[in-house]
Amino acid sequence: MAITENTNKRARTKIVSTLGPASSNAEMIRTLILEGVDVFRINMAHGSREEHQSVFDRVREVSESVGRPVGILVDLAGPKIRLGELFSDPKVCAVGEEIRFVKRMESQNASEFSTNYEPLIEEISVGDNVMLADGTVALEVLRFEENEAICKVTEGGTVRSRQGVNLPGVSLSVPAMTIKDHDNAHWAARAGADFISLSFVRTPLEIVELKQIVREHASSAMVIAKIEKREALQRLDEIVLAADGVMVARGDLGVEIDVAETPMAQKRIIRKCQEYSKPVIVATQMLDSMHKSSRPTRAEASDVANAILDGADACMLSGETAIGDYPVESVVMMNRIMLNTESSLVDMPEYAAPKIADGVQLVTSAVVYGAARIAARLEAKLVVIATRTGNTARIKAKQRDYIPTVGVSRNLSTLRQLCLFWGIIPLHGMPLDSGEQLRTAVEEWGRQQDLLSDGDYAVFVTSSTFGTLGHDELFVHQIED
Ligand code: PGA
Ligand code: MN
Repeated sequence: MAITENTNKRARTKIVSTLGPASSNAEMIRTLILEGVDVFRINMAHGSREEHQSVFDRVREVSESVGRPVGILVDLAGPKIRLGELFSDPKVCAVGEEIRFVKRMESQNASEFSTNYEPLIEEISVGDNVMLADGTVALEVLRFEENEAICKVTEGGTVRSRQGVNLPGVSLSVPAMTIKDHDNAHWAARAGADFISLSFVRTPLEIVELKQIVREHASSAMVIAKIEKREALQRLDEIVLAADGVMVARGDLGVEIDVAETPMAQKRIIRKCQEYSKPVIVATQMLDSMHKSSRPTRAEASDVANAILDGADACMLSGETAIGDYPVESVVMMNRIMLNTESSLVDMPEYAAPKIADGVQLVTSAVVYGAARIAARLEAKLVVIATRTGNTARIKAKQRDYIPTVGVSRNLSTLRQLCLFWGIIPLHGMPLDSGEQLRTAVEEWGRQQDLLSDGDYAVFVTSSTFGTLGHDELFVHQIED
């Protein structure tokens, strides 16, 4: 399997694209891959098992036929509280209007709301805010009557059946993973997902629990913690350390905390991921207006650029590719903003060696750090990282230097995980039995891609005992005339 399109046109920052009705057919998946998607997200909040399985299989098939490893992220919905069926749908809530939250599942008049969360009424208190419709509609709890919570609308707007309910600052007894999440996690691990993310994470234990499920199936899926609760921000260090990767889930985060706090929360989360060498995805509303428009707003273009400058490994498209009118244009645009932004990173100081890189031997970490310096000094045109589990490439990605870097592995699932790591081009089919073979094959590929020509240097990080111990070997190859 060889990459057919030009590597230079792909951004170093990775693109995660959510699949949905606008994008799930094979032709569209193929186009999105060719235009720059590195990882597809399957959102478990929607669709049936059969649909998830068939989309999963389709992504694998298309990836194979295109000749490019592509990651699959299965996103578990977590304990998301939702409204039940509304009596009148949609329902316009006017400021000052009283809304009654009831225990039963169906509401009997337009100002009665039900939810899928039984203990809601016991767990909220007078004065709490109940946020609906993505935070656009706000209610305040006034008082309680038997099996009812009476609220007043403080910010009006339109509410629809089954929309999410956010309770900022309320600590809920709801378990981290619902029965459905468990079931979906087992499926994802069995199916061979490359990444499994958990929504509404509050404690590191929830990540540990999900990792246990993953291990039961001998899956190597990376577990991603979605940061979208204040509780998660309060235990950020432990959660980042426990997870294999992180998502700044700004959609719910922007309702669970003040939206005005989210820009600095994003920077703080990304900085932690830099410190702990964990890949981080910035998600939601990145090119939101492209649901309905072929061009983004200036603010959206800046948002993508700023996420990259903050240190994001990947940016995510949600509805833009799942249900929008311009899925391909959204990916093309995101890739273009990324390419334009990244070229300025050349002048930025390199990040220091990672403070903490769990799962990575000290020798490996030091050799990778040195390789980047040698490559810079030689103005090398290519860096090659041999990686068994992906960890060596993961820490290399955090150095953010601009020299094209390929990751090679015997392991196809490792190559698919490299799809999330900043600046790492996963390269399939490279011979790894000796340094000599690898050098020859990489040289040939590099010439084909116009990355290498006569006299250029390439820096290789490998292992003297290929693939068993830490990566203790580094060699420089000069392309001969
Ligand atoms: P969601 O997660 O799209 O699954 O809600 C992302 C977010 O909340 O930003
Ligand atoms: Mn969310």
